[in-house]
Amino acid sequence: MSGTDVTKVLVIGGGIAGTAAALGLHKAGYDVAVCEAHPGTAADIGAFLTLGSNGMRALAQLGATDAVTAAGFALTSIRLLDGQGTEQARGPLGEVADPALHYRCLRRGELNAALQREAARRGIPVRHGLRLAEVSDGPDGVAAHFADGTTADADLLLGADGLNSTVRTLLFPGARPGYAGQRIYYGYSDAAPDGVPAGLITFVRGGESTFGYAVSPAGETYWFARVDTEALPAAGTAYEVDRREELLPLLRKDSTPAADIVAASRGSVLATDATDLPLGTAWHSGRMLLIGDAAHAASPATGQGASMALEDAVVLAKALRDLPDVPTAFAAYERHRRPRVERNIAVSGGISRAGHGSARPGRAVARPAEPDEALIRQLAWDSPLPAAPPEEP
Ligand SMILES: Cc1cc2nc3c(=O)[nH]c(=O)nc-3n(C[C@H](O)[C@H](O)[C@H](O)COP(=O)(O)OP(=O)(O)OC[C@H]3O[C@@H](n4cnc5c(N)ncnc54)[C@H](O)[C@@H]3O)c2cc1C
Repeated sequence: MSGTDVTKVLVIGGGIAGTAAALGLHKAGYDVAVCEAHPGTAADIGAFLTLGSNGMRALAQLGATDAVTAAGFALTSIRLLDGQGTEQARGPLGEVADPALHYRCLRRGELNAALQREAARRGIPVRHGLRLAEVSDGPDGVAAHFADGTTADADLLLGADGLNSTVRTLLFPGARPGYAGQRIYYGYSDAAPDGVPAGLITFVRGGESTFGYAVSPAGETYWFARVDTEALPAAGTAYEVDRREELLPLLRKDSTPAADIVAASRGSVLATDATDLPLGTAWHSGRMLLIGDAAHAASPATGQGASMALEDAVVLAKALRDLPDVPTAFAAYERHRRPRVERNIAVSGGISRAGHGSARPGRAVARPAEPDEALIRQLAWDSPLPAAPPEEP
């Protein structure tokens, strides 16, 4: 298997990791196609997320900043309130000097749709309604078998099929996500607390929850709550039930705007389990590689899952572009990415499992002021990716 043999890459999953990887691989000169199980452009299933400055930097390297900043709104500062609504800390959020690198708050479906539109604009096929069921790997290529009975061949296959990845289950059946100790509620509300400036995200350390909210330029409040409790009855996400009534009594114990925001939510109040994958989950086998949540799903506490998926996309494209053969490229990709994404799994899982009460005031605003130089080099499209990252001093 040599890099020069690879022309065709099949991406399973048209979410954030898969579509971004397709943009990167296409930019690196590969013939790439995305196969997505959903029948249409990814629907907004309710959740919103924030992209960090690191994720925005990765997007910029993919040339996709404008495509994504057409949706959502920028966040440039963060504050922490206690359960009485008293401000404990406030500070800038991320790389505020460069508007292209501002944190961004947007619905997950909007981000997926923006990336898929950009892929289509560049001529990358994104095929909907193709649910992967089986894979076969051989010396000359890999074949993906779909639930509708069709098959696609490629030189490489990327498993970008998320938390409950079929590719991961087929390759490494023992690697399963586990519950990280918190239930996450989220929704959108018409109740915007008075005097909240544009670009501010507020964290409230309440008696029974960690609550977060930001007000969009249109006056809509995007909010989430993290509560220490048992896992939901059915594994994974639960979008069917409006869970407002189980959350409100917890929030009403505090003197903060949280309960009013939730009470005025438009549409359902949704809940999902915080889950993560074990450290050391294998990522590749032969011509197949896992990326994004399929490889390194973390609990949402650090809010870095989507940003990590975007970073994956850039580093993988550079590895395949710059290194002489697939095994070397996959190994280099893993050497560059594993320490960073596993640090995120450990930190985020530590926050979730320790419970919201352990959060120290000020922690939420203690973000590094300076961008990480090693990451900037790793993501810079024009700088070649070495086979191994430089030793940390
Ligand atoms: C409540 C919550 C809040 C979050 N908040 C944040 C945040 O603030 N910031 C942040 O960065 N991240 C956040 N995340 C995490 C973030 O959403 C994920 O890390 C990110 O979506 C991962 O992208 P992905 O492409 O790897 O997976 P996904 O976005 O899950 O995409 C996987 C895709 O694969 C498709 N698929 C699945 N199975 C198959 C199959 N067999 N065949 C074909 N296609 C298939 C799916 O339909 C889907 O489109 C949050 C997550 C949750 C649950």
